[in-house]
Amino acid sequence: MPTNSKSILDTPIEYLKGVGPIRADLLKKELGIHTVLDLLQSYPFRHIDKTKFHKISEINIADDFVQVKGVLNKLQVHGQARKKRLTAQLKDETGSIQLVWFKGVAWLEKNLQPGVNYVCYGKVNFFNGRINVPHPELTLPNENTQTSSHLAPVYHSTEKLNVKGLDSKGRRIIIFHLLQRMSGEKLEEHLPDYILQKLKLMGRHEALVNIHFPKDQRCLDQAVRRIKFDEVFYFQLRMSQLRADRQMHIKGLSFGKVGSYFNQFYKECIPFELTGAQKRVIKEIRVDLGSGVQMNRLLQGDVGSGKTMVGLLTMLLALDNGFQACMIAPTEILAQQHYASLKKDLEQLGISVGYLAGSVKGKKRKLLLEELATGTLQILIGTHAVLEDPVVFKNLGLAITDEQHRFGVAQRSKLWKKNKPIPPHILVMTATPIPRTLAMTMYGDLEVSKIDEMPPGRKPVTTLHKTEENRLYVFGLMRKLIAAGQQVYIVYPLIEESAKLDLNNLMQGYESLERDFPKPEYQISIVHGRMKTEDKDYEMQRFVRNETQIMIATTVIEVGVNVPNASLMIIENTERFGLSQLHQLRGRVGRGADQAFCILMSKKNISKGSYKRIKSMVRTTDGFEIAEADLKLRGPGSIDGTMQSGMAMFKLTDIVRDGDMIRVCREMAVRIFEKDPSLELDIHKKMRLHLEHYFHLVKGWSRIS
Ligand code: ADP
Ligand code: MG
Repeated sequence: MPTNSKSILDTPIEYLKGVGPIRADLLKKELGIHTVLDLLQSYPFRHIDKTKFHKISEINIADDFVQVKGVLNKLQVHGQARKKRLTAQLKDETGSIQLVWFKGVAWLEKNLQPGVNYVCYGKVNFFNGRINVPHPELTLPNENTQTSSHLAPVYHSTEKLNVKGLDSKGRRIIIFHLLQRMSGEKLEEHLPDYILQKLKLMGRHEALVNIHFPKDQRCLDQAVRRIKFDEVFYFQLRMSQLRADRQMHIKGLSFGKVGSYFNQFYKECIPFELTGAQKRVIKEIRVDLGSGVQMNRLLQGDVGSGKTMVGLLTMLLALDNGFQACMIAPTEILAQQHYASLKKDLEQLGISVGYLAGSVKGKKRKLLLEELATGTLQILIGTHAVLEDPVVFKNLGLAITDEQHRFGVAQRSKLWKKNKPIPPHILVMTATPIPRTLAMTMYGDLEVSKIDEMPPGRKPVTTLHKTEENRLYVFGLMRKLIAAGQQVYIVYPLIEESAKLDLNNLMQGYESLERDFPKPEYQISIVHGRMKTEDKDYEMQRFVRNETQIMIATTVIEVGVNVPNASLMIIENTERFGLSQLHQLRGRVGRGADQAFCILMSKKNISKGSYKRIKSMVRTTDGFEIAEADLKLRGPGSIDGTMQSGMAMFKLTDIVRDGDMIRVCREMAVRIFEKDPSLELDIHKKMRLHLEHYFHLVKGWSRIS
């Protein structure tokens, strides 16, 4: 084993004392541990306080892990061959519990000593109305427990590892010896002193020792903090590098001027006062546009927060600088809505606005394309059709996409090519809230603006949870609101695997609704995924024009439609929707002056998870709060692929709970990067080497970089 500490870390695991080739194979397969560093970074998920013992009579199912002292007896083998199992009893002065093993029975039978006092540690299990402890860890009270610490690490294990002595106890011993050998030559510190001091961080070597064998709880907390810092800080440094790289390489159009279009519209045409958040975002965008670097900005803002106005003002800046602008929406109906309202706003300034979608054909299309190419047309609103090759602009300076989650990366990159040689600025607007810490971490290389304030006077949607028994109440509310001239959405889930079943549900719902809300007094629109686009649009339009009072649909209405007169949203089988989807749906109502309602229908007995989702919805209408709740409920597993691969390098950091740490790291990384972007200063040299080494090792990193 090499003595230099850097090469100790890179030593293949099979060369580590106490491991060898067979166990090394197992560590690789079961835990992905290839090197000594991997082993040291397979952190314990908890520690046992060896000074604390439970009394057996006090153990209950609410306990997670327990440690008890007692006499082992009644060893008994049950079953045959593969079904063999060993049970034993552990007895202290207050009572007894059962211990049970399903693996390694023969060995245990030979080695366990009945009548002897043991310390037993394990996870509590509840089986057949009784408490037992499967596969407990047993040690003799006077057995050399290897460490002076009273907090002993517990590691994740698997059955295969257990059999080969690589269970938590086995690994604890291997790691303990390893750290002891390393104590002669400590691991080199890579953070400069000023950071360690400023943030009061524990040293690197000390942290690695204390995460496994902490001197006390305080040292453990400090070790955890230091390791989390390393994880996030280096990630943020890398993000800063990427962002800078991009800015160096991608030249952008410089819109230095704020001209008469913007000024006149701003002063004379906006019928309301912009919110503080809208003003702030517009400032951020103006800085981007004037910087000479291509803007790639994500604009987040809850449904109804007024993103369109920000988009419009940004387009005016492009026009003021002699460029064209376009806005793309994911559906024709949404594009048409934008077109109608923007045209009304812009024509008062004498600006020409065009509309392009698949449905625009023949002469009309030809004329439009001509105007676009010559520059007569200043603003184009449309669907994906705008991306097609024959659509050529004279000089496109800005492209806005609305509701980004329906818009793939590939499609956005097509926009880049719509102006040559310098790509247009890009503004992506989305109502899908991304939790703050996540955005900071994962979109670290993208600029993010946020509208976190609603226009004044909005009444939050009243949200209620109801079951089938309350159906009459729900119908009653529908009748009342419709009588007052308002409209209602009813939404059914649509999940790919059970699309047929879902469609049946929707049709049944429609039929029963027709009985309770008969024509001609009531008119119902129906929209679902199996319909042709034209038919869907036709039905939507009838609802938009208030010719139908009820819109029954699968989730197709999720994206951006604006029907301010709709004040009730009923969601059927709520338990089958995700939280963020529910939030999006609810955002369809509460856009007008009337008090709006959202009723979440579900079965009476639903899972705990569904219940929590529904409770979150009833409790708050804040999209960011909901996104955080969603992340907490579903865990990082709910985050899409690109983000996941970024997350893989966080072993200890919890993207949801460690928000403060993430903010501290980000600030520190940004500050250092501003002063010393290539990390050339002497005090940063070790940091640079560590950064290179670290990202070289992280799998999947290339996918985000
Ligand atoms: P979204 O962010 O969901 O796209 P919209 O841009 O459609 O929201 O805005 C929703 C409604 O709020 C529109 O009718 C818009 O005219 C209005 N609105 C936008 N900004 C303000 C404001 N500052 N004050 C009052 N109403 C506003
Ligand atoms: Mg919108």
